[in-house]
Amino acid sequence: MRAYREHIQDLSGMRRLLVEHFPVALLVGLGGYGWTGDWLCVPVALSTGWLIDVDHLFDFGYYVFRYYPNVDYRLLNNGGYFKINNKVFVPFHSWELTLLVLVGGAVAGEAVLGLVAAAAHGAHISQDQIHYRVRGFGYFLISRALSHFRLESFCVSS
Ligand SMILES: [Zn+2]
Repeated sequence: MRAYREHIQDLSGMRRLLVEHFPVALLVGLGGYGWTGDWLCVPVALSTGWLIDVDHLFDFGYYVFRYYPNVDYRLLNNGGYFKINNKVFVPFHSWELTLLVLVGGAVAGEAVLGLVAAAAHGAHISQDQIHYRVRGFGYFLISRALSHFRLESFCVSS
């Protein structure tokens, strides 16, 4: 386990984003499949627990929008655009979305799929909360919006 963690930390930004959440999301999806026999649990868990890091492209797009044509595309790999923007949007990294998926699944008559989606999403945000030293309410979209998405309001040390 320790070797795996060290390997993850050695990977560069985007590659690490693709690898670090995959095992947990897959486990949640397989757990849902084992519980219900519904194979949709796997792609649903991977979508909400793994692929949500695609929202980093929103923040990178904000950087490109502000600095084009003087854009350093290497920043996409190390997340340096967060510091330059001095903002953190990551709209999919929100506990509000976890709740929305849970309630939406129940309302749509797919309570178990909603629960699997919410569990995978919550696991992803919890991992990020610990790894990136985010403030207590940092992963609430409302909290980020109230602080105008400022980086210093998001991280414990920035
Ligand atoms: Zn993430």
